[in-house]
Amino acid sequence: MSAPRVRIVSTGSEILQGLYPDTNAQGLSRRLFDAGFRVVGHAAAPDDAKLIRSAVEAAALNADLVVMTGGLGPTEDDVNRDVIAALYGCGLRFDEEADRLMRVRFAARGIPMPERNRVQAMIPEPAVTLQNLWGTAPGFVLPKTGRLAALCALPGPPNEWRPMFEAALAPDAPVDGLFPQRPKLEVHTIHVALTPESTLNEVLSDLFAPVDGIDVTILASRGVIRLRIIGQDNPDGVRARRDEVLRRIGPEIVFGEGPADLSPAQALLDLFRERGLTLATAESCTGGWVAKSITDLPGSSAMLHAGWVTYANEAKIRDLRVPAELIAAHGAVSEPVARAMAEGARTVAGTNYAVAVTGIAGPDGGTAEKPVGTVWFACAGPEGTSTLCRLFRGDRDSIRQWATNQAIELTRRAVLGIPQTQYLGGANPRFLGA
Ligand code: ATP
Ligand code: MG
Repeated sequence: MSAPRVRIVSTGSEILQGLYPDTNAQGLSRRLFDAGFRVVGHAAAPDDAKLIRSAVEAAALNADLVVMTGGLGPTEDDVNRDVIAALYGCGLRFDEEADRLMRVRFAARGIPMPERNRVQAMIPEPAVTLQNLWGTAPGFVLPKTGRLAALCALPGPPNEWRPMFEAALAPDAPVDGLFPQRPKLEVHTIHVALTPESTLNEVLSDLFAPVDGIDVTILASRGVIRLRIIGQDNPDGVRARRDEVLRRIGPEIVFGEGPADLSPAQALLDLFRERGLTLATAESCTGGWVAKSITDLPGSSAMLHAGWVTYANEAKIRDLRVPAELIAAHGAVSEPVARAMAEGARTVAGTNYAVAVTGIAGPDGGTAEKPVGTVWFACAGPEGTSTLCRLFRGDRDSIRQWATNQAIELTRRAVLGIPQTQYLGGANPRFLGA
């Protein structure tokens, strides 16, 4: 069974002016992939009827389904419904229910609906309406018409199209109903921490060639690598391939398996919650990024008690009780200072664990002995304090992101009792980065 081919067309001049990235195409692609579709193209058009028409036509002549976002608002530059109706050679009808929902929405805010919003209830005649309970503009789904593919039009704001598209993908809902027979993909993701992509490539290279329709893909970003094993109607094959990957890379570097998006911070939060543990953070060069990654997650208050950004030496001395002599003797970026920061934070916060980061993010401040990218880490816990040094390559942003992921990995290993130096390839890969 082959997957229906989808082309995505985003509309909005701001995207083409580079004011924001086309995250709708990205989010839709991911959702469509999971739902058994194959996205074969992305396009974007500015708010210009001619350009939108040519983009939609090109997409609709070369796909089974076109998914569009944006341009359904009530303003002059929102031309999508007219352009689509003209291209598909149909008229527009007034959708009473969409109009009613819009009026309810305005009434809830205590304001009468502006007359011009009525136009949003106009839907191409043969289309099924996708009601919008999260904003005003409804979407719609048009069936295949002549040589033109089926088309799903959605509003631009992600908080609106996401739930609308989700509803349209439910069993027998308008989008699902157009393509009821779709391949069932199994995707198993193995999340790997702080391992050079090249090392993983060496160990796994022969597995990247598809066998029995099973693909293994590798996606690396600054300290996190996702190994995705993708199969079609073959769960046993996927499981066997997953076992083989794990046999080769070992369990130590794997911080999680399963959901596609698991972040290192989420895996750590799950671990801390499962064991009823608490954490404090003491950060220098990461400027609070470790604490931010954790506090981004709902439920993190059970785990994170306190965090410090101690950028200046005086702050390390005053807030984390780092002895001034240690800094004088070894410098702020050193093992003894990282250790003292972690132990001080643990004592002051009274937590089970505390993790510390101190390093040189650049672009200035490096020396021959401690080049830019040198970062010391420490994690203090009930079993003592473990430390680690890394030399990350890359710009300031990527060094800080690598360091954040390393701090979280150091903590995960401290809790699980995994040796801090045991990484793939045997040695501790001291050089990491872009
Ligand atoms: P509205 O009724 O809000 O005007 P609309 O359907 O006309 O909705 P647009 O005006 O094109 O949609 O976009 C509204 C907002 O949605 C944009 O300002 C932007 O924040 C977001 N948006 C639109 N398209 C995209 C996209 N491709 N990627 C990310 N965000 C987008
Ligand atoms: Mg608009």
